[in-house]
Amino acid sequence: MTRNQQLFDRAKQIIPGGVNSPVRAFGSVGGTPRFIRRAAGAFVWDEDGTRYTDYVGSWGPAIVGHAHPEVIEAVREAAAGGLSFGAPTEAEIVIAEEIAKIVPGVERLRLVSSGTEATMSAIRLARGYTGRDKIVKFEGCYHGHSDSLLVKAGSGLLTFGHPSSAGVPADFTAHTAVLPYNDTAALEAYFAAQGAQTACVIWEPIAGNMNLVKPSAEFVQTLRRLTAEHGAVLIYDEVMTGFRAALGGAQSLHGITPDLTTMGKVIGGGMPLAAFGGKREIMECISPLGGVYQAGTLSGNPVAVAAGLKTLQIIQREGFYENLADLCARLTQGLTQAAAEAGVPFCADFVGGMFGLYFAEQIPQSYADMTASNTDAFKTFFHGMLARGVAFGPSAYEACFMSAAHTPELIDDTVAAAKSVFARMA
Ligand code: PMP
Repeated sequence: MTRNQQLFDRAKQIIPGGVNSPVRAFGSVGGTPRFIRRAAGAFVWDEDGTRYTDYVGSWGPAIVGHAHPEVIEAVREAAAGGLSFGAPTEAEIVIAEEIAKIVPGVERLRLVSSGTEATMSAIRLARGYTGRDKIVKFEGCYHGHSDSLLVKAGSGLLTFGHPSSAGVPADFTAHTAVLPYNDTAALEAYFAAQGAQTACVIWEPIAGNMNLVKPSAEFVQTLRRLTAEHGAVLIYDEVMTGFRAALGGAQSLHGITPDLTTMGKVIGGGMPLAAFGGKREIMECISPLGGVYQAGTLSGNPVAVAAGLKTLQIIQREGFYENLADLCARLTQGLTQAAAEAGVPFCADFVGGMFGLYFAEQIPQSYADMTASNTDAFKTFFHGMLARGVAFGPSAYEACFMSAAHTPELIDDTVAAAKSVFARMA
């Protein structure tokens, strides 16, 4: 028995399913999850000592590579000065100013500890600001695990085939409308009927929780127009795409200024840090200035802020995003060509430092397209690659992540490994 198997068995005796977040359990691909002992740069090592080229990147945060020496040094220094104070610090102002400088729509922001908190708080704020109850989300989009958002969410929920979660009273989701992603006509019909009662629309401006699905330009423009016309708050959930699809997030690519933005993952550089921010007028409805309550013992944690701030400095260096995009292009083109040579139906797409791999003839445009892709083929590919020392996310419904520590040579090795896997799949 491998050490990974031993640990998985032991974990299951004390942690439900052996994991602290469902997708880690390999439920949709089968097999034994790799227990990670350490990581550096583009690699992770498991408890059996096997090294993997990592395209998970902790599901997004590891954009500068794992255990980047400058980030680790910043964390060491901050930790030595105390782990948490429950009082304001100068570093919180510095990171808030830095985020506001990078993300166009952010006039005020507040730090929290997870993406779930950020989206949950942004929605409460939108409801408090507008005095309306209804919210809109889209099929296949995931915004964390707060009650009112667990309706046709992506990520682990999609992976496990439960469109909603047990334990959520129907009353709690009664105000949540779920519309198809990228369907402009459905959006128009919804707003014509219910626009006046709608507090907000929350969306993934480039979906990454049903694999990577990009919105059409028409859909983006219609969403901004309709929310503005009806006085609904437009929330860009950039927990995944922020500082990832581009430095300024998907909103900078769309040329859109949302009313609120939620952020996470990259801004903590691997530590628990997230944020929500946007228009001053809306943000000032929050306690202690306004009546919308929101708080956190560890919010703005000094160690997390230090990791985040250093990460934000590194990603602003010359050529950072050009390099990530070049690496993604090299990988997606290499894989597409290798699959075509083997006759395996496959395509791939990317934006900035995130990419999607699809066992389908065409790049999916919606949740329905995505769920029609060949998940059995993904499973075979996933395990074939893992056996060759390459780790993709253990689900066909997850986007993948590049880091600045990856190199063209590593990408070529990944493509070479994929060639042998595709050849066996054909
Ligand atoms: N929003 C989006 C778009 C996400 O991708 C995620 C996590 N994958 C979340 C919210 C929730 O973030 P967290 O897991 O930090 O709670």
